[in-house]
Amino acid sequence: MILLDGKLVSAEMKLKLKAEVTEMVAAGKRAPHLCAILVGNNGASETYVSSKVRNCEEVGFGSSLIRFDSDISEEVLLDKIHEINDDETIDGLIVQLPLPPQINVQKVTEAISPSKDVDGFHPTNSGRLMQNLPAFIPATPYGILMMLDYYGIQTEGKTCAVIGRSNIVGMPMSVLMARNDSPGNCTVTLCHSKTKNLEQVTAASDIIVAALGRPGFVKENMVKEGAIVIDVGITRVPSATTKSGFKIAGDVDFQNVSSKCAYISPVPGGVGLMTIIGLLKNTMAAAKKEISF
Ligand code: NAP
Repeated sequence: MILLDGKLVSAEMKLKLKAEVTEMVAAGKRAPHLCAILVGNNGASETYVSSKVRNCEEVGFGSSLIRFDSDISEEVLLDKIHEINDDETIDGLIVQLPLPPQINVQKVTEAISPSKDVDGFHPTNSGRLMQNLPAFIPATPYGILMMLDYYGIQTEGKTCAVIGRSNIVGMPMSVLMARNDSPGNCTVTLCHSKTKNLEQVTAASDIIVAALGRPGFVKENMVKEGAIVIDVGITRVPSATTKSGFKIAGDVDFQNVSSKCAYISPVPGGVGLMTIIGLLKNTMAAAKKEISF
């Protein structure tokens, strides 16, 4: 079994990004700049956003964090997004989800200029992804592609079960694994909560991407010998052995599944760290205007 080590891969990729920023600045260009908007004070969102900002600093990107109270009106938030769309010193803009109920998430997603949409959630980017055109790929699927690529995992002709069909992970992942590209060219089954005989689907699959948010859901009997298992899940579960009283659990029963796998990603230390790389790479691409809209 080979561990898909997000710590190792992301550290290498960050060094490369940092070197690229140094070159850009030496050539008289501005370093890429990511702006994050955080509404309210959801603990998990605070953690995610501060990690994104910290990672920007690590590779030499500029970053700004704009905070709003949870009672902000939709209009004020949309005005701020439009202002940032017009700000030439900002390359990428993300609005951390979830948002409070008075704000329409779809309106917010569509207000962000597709050329700054480094989360890849705007319909223009997801539509282009569907057609295998240049697009900002959502950070988590993008990170998984980079991980597969790094380990030289051939996906062509393989069967792949993706569990979960969210717009940010499962759905784009299924499209990317099915597209005529590398990684890709898989025969994909997209599973969700209404899927019947899910165990049989996964047990017959060469690759499993588990993105449903149910700790330990993928059990030994659901995985075939020699499978490639990608665990996207991040759920806080109570723990008597940590100071904080909780730990992060993935969607795969790692202890019992790992010995059957050819490759498996751990949680923590797997996909989560690659997601950050996806975001940083998208921000770099936005700064270099690599994708024309
Ligand atoms: P989500 O929006 O809640 O979607 C979950 C999906 O899983 C839905 O499509 C749902 O089906 C499906 N599902 C739920 N229970 C199921 C079951 N018993 N059997 C089959 N399918 C089931 O979640 P998400 O945002 O995609 O996130 C999924 C997990 O990944 C979460 O743990 C999240 O924290 C984690 N995550 C990790 C990263 C990272 O960087 N590692 C990034 C994003 C998310 P229906 O559509 O039928 O409801």
